[in-house]
Amino acid sequence: MLADRTMPTSDAHVNHHRPDCTDWIRSSNNVTQQFLSFGGMPDVVSLAGGLPAPELYPLQAVRDATLRALDRHGAAALEYGPVEGLFALRQLIASRVSATTGGTFSADHVLLTTGAMQGLDLIGKVLIDSGERVIVQAPTYLGALDAWRPRRPAYERLRWDATPAELRGAKFVYTVPNYSNPTGALVPQAQRVALLEQVLQAQTWLVEDDPYQALQLDGPAGPSILAHAAARQAGAYSGPVIYLGTVSKSLVPGLRVGWVVAEAGLIQTLALAKQSADLSSSMLTQAITFELLDSQFDHAHAQTLVDAYRPRRDALCREAALHLSDWFEWEVPVGGMFVWMRAKDRAIDTNALYRLAIEEKVAFVPSSVFDFSGDDRFAMRLNFTRAAPAVLAEGVQRLARAVQRYLKTQPAPR
Ligand code: PMP
Repeated sequence: MLADRTMPTSDAHVNHHRPDCTDWIRSSNNVTQQFLSFGGMPDVVSLAGGLPAPELYPLQAVRDATLRALDRHGAAALEYGPVEGLFALRQLIASRVSATTGGTFSADHVLLTTGAMQGLDLIGKVLIDSGERVIVQAPTYLGALDAWRPRRPAYERLRWDATPAELRGAKFVYTVPNYSNPTGALVPQAQRVALLEQVLQAQTWLVEDDPYQALQLDGPAGPSILAHAAARQAGAYSGPVIYLGTVSKSLVPGLRVGWVVAEAGLIQTLALAKQSADLSSSMLTQAITFELLDSQFDHAHAQTLVDAYRPRRDALCREAALHLSDWFEWEVPVGGMFVWMRAKDRAIDTNALYRLAIEEKVAFVPSSVFDFSGDDRFAMRLNFTRAAPAVLAEGVQRLARAVQRYLKTQPAPR
């Protein structure tokens, strides 16, 4: 049972006591809801969520954009929209992607979705039949594992030097190359190019999930895998990369606007699946997003975020170096929202540590939930964007107290 092994507190929330539900929901759990809920508990320092800093939400810009959107579209902004999304926003995203990749993209290559999360869900619905192989960068974004659970794929771990023979027959490869969730890692360009080469030879799809692209704390991330794919062909894009974007981390998650960029035939198929999911995403928030992107506000805002997040990352890592480095090791991430800490010599089970951390009033996400098998129990994800530097420092000190308590529960080494 996934929840028994992965989530220290969630067994009561698993639906296995509900025999009338489908099989997949009985193996599901509410881990994500629980981790997000810590954000609303004032006495808990939450290093668990993957959320932007709320005090940086651009209220005035969203307010102005809302008025402009209503003036521009009138009642149409309040209607059901086309299932593919607001045409002007699809065009705008296509022209941005063309400019940044050098490829040829039109609105036909873009499906607007209710967050990137819906893109993941639709990809699962359209591409995965039960038991088919899906090769994932590991550890893997929990939301992707959630989205695809009903499809019952057979997961394998991605090796960056995989051969085409290893990839052949897999339905797709899934990666978050920019500041991955959960590890914060930036995949080097050479590995991106090598993977694309193997994917092309193996004739499979590659899903590139890119919500953290704007959060480049220490310099440019370099081209996306989509850009490498687009560079290899003349004419309208028809490559194997299925790219997911979103405004959740670069503007606000509450707009729930994301997009899929892919070859036009696949976009039509995904739109078919979206029709039965929600008819259309909110036209109002798509129209607001159009205003924010068309005015390039998102570019200015990205700089605000980077300037605020860099000292937060530094504060968390500095405090961790003082209090956690005897037991954990990590790389300082060059972007994104997370630090991934691995227990030295696998000496600390982070599922067990988690219970003590909650008692010490600090939350993190244990590694087991990012592992499709649930077996990796020796790492944890810490978020540094949500809280101010002093609060992050306090959170790390509480975590260190939880580690001390954990160690007292362990048998002395022989
Ligand atoms: N993919 C990854 C890797 C993420 O971290 C997230 C958000 N946590 C999403 C997709 C979903 O983003 P959205 O809010 O756009 O649905």
